[in-house]
Amino acid sequence: MKVSEKISSREAIELEDKYGAHNYHPLPVVLEKGEGVHVWDVEGKKYYDFLSAYSAVNQGHCHPRIVGAMTEQAQKLTLTSRAFHNDILGKYEKYASEYFDFDKLLPMNTGAEAVETAIKIARKWAYEKKGVEETEAQIVVCENNFHGRTTTIISFSNDEGARKNFGPYTPGFLKIPYNDVEALEEVLKSNSNIAGFLVEPIQGEAGVYVPSEGFLTRAKELCEKHNVLFIADEVQTGIARTGKLLAVEHENVKPDILILGKAISGGVYPVSAVLANDDVMNVIQPGQHGSTFGGNPVACAVAMAALDVIKDEKLAENAEKLGNLFRRKLDDYIRSSNIVNLVRGKGLLNAIVINDSEDSSTAWDICMKLKENGLLAKPTHGNIIRFAPPLVMNEEQLLDCVDIITKTLKEFEK
Ligand SMILES: *Cc1c(COP(=O)(O)O)cnc(C)c1O
Repeated sequence: MKVSEKISSREAIELEDKYGAHNYHPLPVVLEKGEGVHVWDVEGKKYYDFLSAYSAVNQGHCHPRIVGAMTEQAQKLTLTSRAFHNDILGKYEKYASEYFDFDKLLPMNTGAEAVETAIKIARKWAYEKKGVEETEAQIVVCENNFHGRTTTIISFSNDEGARKNFGPYTPGFLKIPYNDVEALEEVLKSNSNIAGFLVEPIQGEAGVYVPSEGFLTRAKELCEKHNVLFIADEVQTGIARTGKLLAVEHENVKPDILILGKAISGGVYPVSAVLANDDVMNVIQPGQHGSTFGGNPVACAVAMAALDVIKDEKLAENAEKLGNLFRRKLDDYIRSSNIVNLVRGKGLLNAIVINDSEDSSTAWDICMKLKENGLLAKPTHGNIIRFAPPLVMNEEQLLDCVDIITKTLKEFEK
């Protein structure tokens, strides 16, 4: 079977089922084309994409500037490994460091790898700068976190599906409830071996939990007071998604370590990054961390173009404006609804909570109906549906989507 051979949705799904590992449970739609806020399935049906590949495609599908940067670079030089220098890595590192206002960047490929990198940096910093005794460093994390799928990261997850039968687990993590300043203060006061506090500024996978106003500010203050690194995982919330370049900017918080992935490439290529200032980043020396593909020329070209697009097209401002409109419209609907309890979020990272038990299939059924009606979204946990369209959407398109969503929800009213 050639790559170019036409197949039906049913055939594509059967092939994945037979030859692919069953590590995902996708909605039964087979996509073959994307442009801006839209995707098309193999039968030619057009949809609004309301997931944006978990917020990787903030700049819209197949953005011509990003794809152009990729193809141009791909014809010149794709991979040198870090055994040699290349002429674009340094330019990218300067560009992105200045863009996010940090001294240095460490390039990786996936979000999970960047989280792993941040953990390693924080531990090493604790031993070499804070004076924690070797092997004693702890990292504080939050309940219901999502930071990726590696063995270490799932060690501090409390998603049973992600964890069960993957032990033995990596030690060195202390879990506190999300959005709980007192719990953070308690753990920081009672333990002098803490290297960092790893936190999502909004918990995305858990169901778009926005912390109370002041939580991030207070958490950062506590970290400073106790000489603990504030590590922001902005893999999902970063790069304009929540209406600011970074979600921590809603509270003017500057992390000690910033973790980025997903939209740093506009969904065109796997690119992730860890940013920090010299006093932290310089604990990493040659041979202590790396990746064959990390910082490759194609990734660098793609990321620079993707970050340019965010600024040039004012996508943070657009996300802020359309997000407010979206929540206002859905709130109007919810007032007279018995199927949706609430809508929450920031910018264009939003979720609705369905009025049904967590193990019911209602959220899934609604997503199936949304698909029929031309909009793709997926439940996160239980009865929560995340809505995260590409940020290049315009107001008319958003209102069209609100119509599709409310019309679909009405079909489920009791
Ligand atoms: C998606 C995500 C990750 C993991 O990124 P991968 O590229 O899938 O490894 C880490 N943290 C957060 C907050 C994410 O949303």
